[in-house]
Amino acid sequence: MYAGPVQSLIDELGRLPGVGPKSAQRIAFHLLKMPTDDALRLARSITEAKERVSFCTRCFNVCEGEECGICADSRRDPTLVCVVEEPRDVVAVEKTQEFRGRYHVLQGAISPLEGIGPDQLRVKELLARLDAEGVKEVILCTNPNIEGEATAMYLARLLKPLGVRTTRIASGLPVGGDLEYADELTLGRALEGRREVEA
Ligand SMILES: [Zn+2]
Repeated sequence: MYAGPVQSLIDELGRLPGVGPKSAQRIAFHLLKMPTDDALRLARSITEAKERVSFCTRCFNVCEGEECGICADSRRDPTLVCVVEEPRDVVAVEKTQEFRGRYHVLQGAISPLEGIGPDQLRVKELLARLDAEGVKEVILCTNPNIEGEATAMYLARLLKPLGVRTTRIASGLPVGGDLEYADELTLGRALEGRREVEA
């Protein structure tokens, strides 16, 4: 529809999550109108993030280097692991200041509609950590929506027979919501009131 570089910018933007064809066009023309310095700063921050940021080899949180700051912190309790869907959920739980263990980031949730099963998530890596790190309790802190609940149930069935205490954060979180939008107090209480999961 447009000349080469304009169309390829629109196409690339359109591949981002939540950006439809109309938004992609709007953002592309916004970028073209922007002062060159501002646009180049955005381009540089994408390049720099891709070059410097990777995933923690232990918990799959975002980090610079091999291991994230939380895994590298010897004051954190390695026997307690909080399982979350995305790195942004680590930030949400950290804000509660209620949790002193480590995390495991699944990098998604089970969603048959989107073709995401356990194999696409960091489940094998979680199981490998149990013995290696002497994990005593796994807290299933996935989102309180259909995908998050299905993921928690799947993991509970997998973990229970292994003799690891498996708990799920308490309700009080809005059903159908996302952890990242919960306020610190609600999420802190949900973490405190966690219960054994019936698998
Ligand atoms: Zn880590």
